[in-house]
Amino acid sequence: MPEEHHYDLVVVGGGPAGSSAAYAAAKNGVRVALLEKERSIAETVRTSGVTWIQNIKEFGIPDGCFNPIKNFSFCSPNNEVTISDTVPRAAVLDVRKTYRWLANEAEQCGVDIFVKTNIKNVIKNEEGDIVGVSGVGPNGETTFHSKVVIDASGFQSTVCKAMGFAEQWERFGAGAEYEMKAEHVDPETWWLMVGQEYSPAGYAWIFPLGNNMVRIGVGVGKPESNVDPAQRLKEIIDKKLGPIKKLGKLTEIEFHYGLIPNDGLSRRTVFNNLILVGDSAGQANPLVLEGIRYAIKFGRVAGKVASDAIKTGKTDKESLYPYENNWRKEIESKIKSAGKVQDRWIGLTDEGWDKELDIIKELKPEEFIDFIKADFGLSNMIKLATHHPKLAVRQLFNMVKGKK
Ligand SMILES: Cc1cc2nc3c(=O)[nH]c(=O)nc-3n(C[C@H](O)[C@H](O)[C@H](O)COP(=O)(O)OP(=O)(O)OC[C@H]3O[C@@H](n4cnc5c(N)ncnc54)[C@H](O)[C@@H]3O)c2cc1C
Repeated sequence: MPEEHHYDLVVVGGGPAGSSAAYAAAKNGVRVALLEKERSIAETVRTSGVTWIQNIKEFGIPDGCFNPIKNFSFCSPNNEVTISDTVPRAAVLDVRKTYRWLANEAEQCGVDIFVKTNIKNVIKNEEGDIVGVSGVGPNGETTFHSKVVIDASGFQSTVCKAMGFAEQWERFGAGAEYEMKAEHVDPETWWLMVGQEYSPAGYAWIFPLGNNMVRIGVGVGKPESNVDPAQRLKEIIDKKLGPIKKLGKLTEIEFHYGLIPNDGLSRRTVFNNLILVGDSAGQANPLVLEGIRYAIKFGRVAGKVASDAIKTGKTDKESLYPYENNWRKEIESKIKSAGKVQDRWIGLTDEGWDKELDIIKELKPEEFIDFIKADFGLSNMIKLATHHPKLAVRQLFNMVKGKK
């Protein structure tokens, strides 16, 4: 006999978006099931874990979960720049620890977490609206009935695809990374490496984790390039290209591989009884393909809006719309601006990158952080586009603003 469960809210996916949504909903007083297909939360790491201290503090992520970063180094084939800040504003997360902390916060609020539960299908009512999900759990077939479902299944967007609301992402990033022990590491400095040899449509990175650990990775934009990031990563490590050489002897600890959507904010994210959040909604900063802070932030908004709707008994798309309104207001225009910079970066030759680093060099640390975070506030952009002493910087920000 298949197992049957009944909850107010079912959240599919125990990543940062799902745990955060489950946490906020349970805190708001509804019964929540969080479903994860792997054997434990964050069993497989698919991310480099860079995020920002300001967001870490806002979310209450404990100090032991991240390594602070103060210096931002870039290198292209014939240029190098380091922007040094006085305080750390970025961080590299211990991904497993952080994701498990998020899930634990949810559990403490009463969320029931089901691991080894792979959701494959949706249950619909007579109107064709979702009223639950089904799949395979540790004891065989399992069904979860609910008033609202949150699809936080990441890149695969399992629920939304099963409803027929979306196809596979057309434009996305593919990334491969080794977590390694290194002989010489500056724990406060990250490296972004650009140019054809690192990645023909993307970049490579060195992110320090503390304790002489680093994540070295390569990201490649699809369909722009058919380079396999795992193969390219192996090549640049074997060649000890650029700053990799400075790390000395490297010992492999773990391999990570993942995909991240880069189709802009093309999807609707609310339907009757259904919300999409995190990567399943395409909520990522396209400049450096980072989405963890959006997954947590909008996960919490999704959980709050869904649980408010459940409490009022009205869970149609209009009742869930405050969620979509919230995130669009906060990031839609920023993501569009970041997309323009990304389009420019994808077209750069090696010489073009050498020159681009000369522009980046001109930014103050706080301007650089806002830029790389795609935190393009209008007044800041106008200031940089109009008053920056360097013409090239003014031109870059005029382009971001949309002026030819
Ligand atoms: C190579 C790479 C590097 C990245 N680096 C960064 C970075 O440095 N900083 C940053 O902010 N972002 C980074 N990102 C992006 C970031 O990882 C994502 O934006 C973020 O993980 C989105 O969170 P999520 O909860 O939406 O999805 P995910 O983290 O993908 O979580 C989805 C969860 O759902 C589960 N699941 C999937 N399908 C099912 C199913 N059918 N049934 C049950 N469970 C299911 C999965 O097992 C997973 O646990 C990177 C991405 C890649 C690919």
